[in-house]
Amino acid sequence: MGVFESIGTETHEEVLFGLDHASGLRTIVAIHNTSLGPALGGTRFYPYQSEEQALTDVLRLSKGMTLKSAAAGLDLGGGKAVIIGDPKTLGSERLFRAYGRVVDSLGGRYITAEDVGTTPEDISFIARETNFVVGLPSHEGGSGDPSPATARGVVAAMRAVAGRLWGSEDLTGKRVAVQGVGKVGMDLVGRLTEEGAETVITDVDDGAMTEAVETYGSKAVAIDEIHDVVCDIFAPCALGACLSEGTIARLRCEAVVGSANNQLAIDDDADRLVELGILYAPDFVVNAGGVINIAVEMDGYSVDRAKVMIDRIYDNLNAVLDEAEADNVNPHIAALRVAERRIADLATLRLKRRPGQHRGVLNRGVLH
Ligand code: NAD
Repeated sequence: MGVFESIGTETHEEVLFGLDHASGLRTIVAIHNTSLGPALGGTRFYPYQSEEQALTDVLRLSKGMTLKSAAAGLDLGGGKAVIIGDPKTLGSERLFRAYGRVVDSLGGRYITAEDVGTTPEDISFIARETNFVVGLPSHEGGSGDPSPATARGVVAAMRAVAGRLWGSEDLTGKRVAVQGVGKVGMDLVGRLTEEGAETVITDVDDGAMTEAVETYGSKAVAIDEIHDVVCDIFAPCALGACLSEGTIARLRCEAVVGSANNQLAIDDDADRLVELGILYAPDFVVNAGGVINIAVEMDGYSVDRAKVMIDRIYDNLNAVLDEAEADNVNPHIAALRVAERRIADLATLRLKRRPGQHRGVLNRGVLH
């Protein structure tokens, strides 16, 4: 299939293909939309089976970033990049620096960060070739790993849901089933334990399961049992497409609030959840804590400001759920409307800040 055919009716502004023969770099950068600001999104390093698969992924992911940043009220657009190959065998200083030059060539229209398959060390190499990179390690003046920020945002979203469903934002005594205790899931379990909630967890990684059980007293269940757990909140924190016709029918929760990207297998699955009386908190509203943290870094990182901005996910989610009720649409559709309306409203304003123009460091630190 040809490139233009693959892009089809999608409305991306620009798709750049980058190559460095010496290091084996093959990269695709997709800028979806810069109406609200420079296109921010991480670099995914993955052994795609084909270029077509890589292109499909980068187009989908970059569009997702546009929606996430818009719904979070950030002055950022959406973009994403993929590097094709196995990071363990292909990753090298030369490759990341060559990639950094590809990013730099876009002059700040695209700003990159860490994603699946890239590490803080890789990001440091990229940063030697371009200023248009964020999420640097804290010892290099960045905001570090975004996962704690993402987990904090998930808790803020859970409070909003608790307030609506049970009349109190207090999560004490609530039972939460967490699918995946990786960087975000484990941090979330820690936060929930501190709040006095009970956690039931699963993971394909036995070591992670043991850690959650031993550190936080979580109850562990097998991978295929997590959907059947009787609980107040189901929190998907592993893979996408975890909410499908088959899994939704098994859910025994009152709400779904988790960090995983693209949780719905198809958009109509949001209707299935409504039909079963399960409150679905749209993933891209709930999991924006990481990108919000990075947006704060671009303005000169301040932990205090990051916390305040991440906690606004509580209000953002309530606004989306209010709109869903008022318009009698499912929460996923309401979230799309909120994001698209913000883009349409502000698209014709001139940017106050030029892409990539940083405001300098306020106070450093890392969000825990
Ligand atoms: P991670 O790789 O650290 O954690 C994912 C965990 O899920 C791992 O422990 C893995 O073993 C486990 N897992 C994989 N397949 C599983 C399965 N079938 N059942 C149960 N567990 C399974 O990733 P992360 O950074 O914690 O991100 C988790 C999710 O949240 C991803 O979907 C990611 O895209 C999304 N997300 C993360 C961030 C962030 O700041 N890290 C921000 C936004 C969205």
